[in-house]
Amino acid sequence: MAGMIKIGISSCLLGHPVRYDGEDRREHVLIHALGEYFQLVPVCPEVEYGLPVPREPMRLTGSPAAPRLITISTGVDHTDAMLQWIRGKIEYLSGENLCGFIFKSRSPSCSAGGVEVYSPSGGRNKRAAGIFSRAFMRHFPSVPVEEETGLYTARAREEFIERVIDFSRKQPQGAD
Ligand code: SF4
Repeated sequence: MAGMIKIGISSCLLGHPVRYDGEDRREHVLIHALGEYFQLVPVCPEVEYGLPVPREPMRLTGSPAAPRLITISTGVDHTDAMLQWIRGKIEYLSGENLCGFIFKSRSPSCSAGGVEVYSPSGGRNKRAAGIFSRAFMRHFPSVPVEEETGLYTARAREEFIERVIDFSRKQPQGAD
């Protein structure tokens, strides 16, 4: 692993059983293809923040510009505490020199942009990024990111690999 370019990945995509239902969403082909080039650094915002497995699922609610992260059945609002955890995680990741990130689609924490935001009454509103991925993309706006669903073709994976390698070459200290 020493010397390999690092990219982040939602832990469940790497096969860690950290989802709310105790399952994973391992992406075998993706991991095999990208693992040849990169060191994959797993991040599960919900579990690292302190939530158990299994846990009550959450969703984004309110304004798409600043949605709240709220449990679906009991209405517990984790937004402020999660944002506090995210600040520390982003600071930590700044030292990891990540040159890319693969986010889990349709996750209120990890989606790169396509997760539904609900109105307080329960209706679907618009789509937004997850609470962690949004902060990551704001802090590292040039880092190439994709959802796993955007990397299902060999062509898309090749293009992502090229973007990551290109980004790593532009880093001042050599992001390895
Ligand atoms: S989508 Fe993100 S928060 Fe949800 S289980 Fe996967 S890594 Fe954890």
